Amino acid sequence: IFQPAGRIADLGVSEILAITARAGALKREGRPVIILGTGEPDFDTPNHIKDAAIAAIRRGETKYTNLDGSPEMKRAIRDKFARENGLSFAQAEVTAGAGAKQMLYNAMMASLNDGDEVIIPTPCWTSYFDIVQIAGGVPVAVPCPGEAGFRLSAEALEAAITPRTKWLLLNSPSNPTGAAYAEEHYRPLLEVLRRHPHVWLMVDDMYEHIIYDDFRFVTPLALDPSLKDRCLTINGVSKAYAMTGWRLGYAGGPAELIAGMAVVQSQSTSCPCSVTQAASIAALDGPQEFLKDRRASFARRRDLVVDALNRIDGITCRRPEGAFYTYASCEGMLGRVSPDGTVLRNDRDFCAWLLEAANVAVVPGSAFGLSPYFRISYATSEAELTEAMSRIATACAQL
Ligand code: PLP
Repeated sequence: IFQPAGRIADLGVSEILAITARAGALKREGRPVIILGTGEPDFDTPNHIKDAAIAAIRRGETKYTNLDGSPEMKRAIRDKFARENGLSFAQAEVTAGAGAKQMLYNAMMASLNDGDEVIIPTPCWTSYFDIVQIAGGVPVAVPCPGEAGFRLSAEALEAAITPRTKWLLLNSPSNPTGAAYAEEHYRPLLEVLRRHPHVWLMVDDMYEHIIYDDFRFVTPLALDPSLKDRCLTINGVSKAYAMTGWRLGYAGGPAELIAGMAVVQSQSTSCPCSVTQAASIAALDGPQEFLKDRRASFARRRDLVVDALNRIDGITCRRPEGAFYTYASCEGMLGRVSPDGTVLRNDRDFCAWLLEAANVAVVPGSAFGLSPYFRISYATSEAELTEAMSRIATACAQL
């Protein structure tokens, strides 16, 4: 019988995938389930990006490329960082791999020794904890409650730092809360980091382009260039350009770290897919205007969901600044009893009950490290969202 290695013995596949799989199975049985669990845009990859990939195939760009990105890919990444973020990186300071997830993985594997600590504000994307653990590190969760806008405070950061701290990992806009850090939120954190030169900063900017109203995106290194020798800025094409299946993420940071990440990549995936690199160069270099329409569409869906949730007695939802998730509190629902006599004790019970009673699949906050909440991904049509919200309201009224 297979015995898992210690490094994965406590880990499972993501709870989000498990919930989505269960909801998918119910759907196949004929139940009219609406799945609001998955974290990917429902838009299609734009045609100019697809065309670039097809042209690359026809040109015969179907072989291994340079380990962590072709020279042209690295040029496009450097241009992107300079143009959109005001960050200047040399060729040896950028890297590309199979998704932002691989960037995080490479970086943790390249930098963590057993027992090194990584400070992770929670709620957070579920993979952060598991990647740190696989790499031998210790995730240090710092709870960031809804009343504080789900953002890390300088005091909480200061209190979490120990001599073993290797990284602070920040994600803005955030999965799962949609909360984002403006300049005024980052400044006090950067001040703390300046006082602790052994702490490195890893930034996950995946949702940079999915922001609303008058929110102004900024990445921390642009605010404090003095962190350049200990900051890794991670991004990718998945969310902005609706390219989750293509698998390309990239990062900019100190050359020694980037070289270490390439070592990890060289013994795992060798290089990012050549065709995907051609598509991603077109995505980064190409027209960006369509992002505005997509943002407007996401903003309408966000308002639809937030307004509907806040009309339900027992649920409260903050209006997020970015990404395509809401993270609503279901505290007011706990202790209530469903018509079949089940007492809803926590957010897991609440979400399980919503799937049974309303045929709507959402993810409990327990999966992201802060309860009692539930995450809705609103990257689906307004018609489907309207139906889902009406079902949730009807189901909650029975409690
Ligand atoms: N970072 C965050 C915060 C995410 O939510 C995700 C995907 O869900 C990723 C990174 C991974 O993106 P990629 O598809 O580039 O691996």
